[in-house]
Amino acid sequence: MEILFIVVFALLGLVVGSFLNVCIDRLPQSKSIVFPPSHCEACQHKLAAKDLIPVFSYLRLCGRCRYCKAAVPRRLFWVELATGVVFALLAWHYGLSPALGVMAFYACLFTIVFVIDLEHGIIPNKVVYPGMVVALLLALYSWPWLTQVIKPGIASAALGGGIGFALFFLIAIASRGGMGWGDVKLVGLIGLATGFPLVFLSIILGAVLGGIVAVALVIAKKRKFKETLPFGPFLAAAAMVTLLWGNNILSWYLGLLM
Ligand SMILES: [Zn+2]
Repeated sequence: MEILFIVVFALLGLVVGSFLNVCIDRLPQSKSIVFPPSHCEACQHKLAAKDLIPVFSYLRLCGRCRYCKAAVPRRLFWVELATGVVFALLAWHYGLSPALGVMAFYACLFTIVFVIDLEHGIIPNKVVYPGMVVALLLALYSWPWLTQVIKPGIASAALGGGIGFALFFLIAIASRGGMGWGDVKLVGLIGLATGFPLVFLSIILGAVLGGIVAVALVIAKKRKFKETLPFGPFLAAAAMVTLLWGNNILSWYLGLLM
């Protein structure tokens, strides 16, 4: 039964991943995410249902458009697959519960932030603001049926969001454009979602992750030493880790200090 549920939720994840790709393609261009229907970017041919089966259509057509044979971005495949895998992990971790819905929402939100910032170096307000609204709604009330999710009280959320925002606001001014305003708002959102003090865990995890990847890319000669990397993807990944295991990591760390 449980396996069946995980498989069904993973399949749902593949479909949702396909929709996330539409959001990732269209939000940075301020296009509608519902209209027009999916079409090939190269030949504008409207895609049929058989072209839109997540992951399988891409593999079946060897990553090319059925009509004009233009290469389809590999990202479409990876986002679909990753969303399916993440949904499976969440279903396994939370079971059928309200917490699963909330965490699936955050996973979608942070996946969109991750990929758009990676591809365009921006973090659209249209993604961050709805996230802030949901985080605030979760913080405003105790939601007794939502015990498995990290949901700070309103004071903790306000403190986490406020401190994170203020800290990155100062960094953005001091770095004169090195840190973008999108990152400032994103940390505000992460602070609202994780609260105080977990917002610091997200920031530290994001910085460590970014540092490791930056060094690895230099070693692999994929990046010059002074080239900047977008910070958003690392913050987004760190936020998901914090929402999933933040309290465990914090108590493990405090245990080390004792
Ligand atoms: Zn085409």
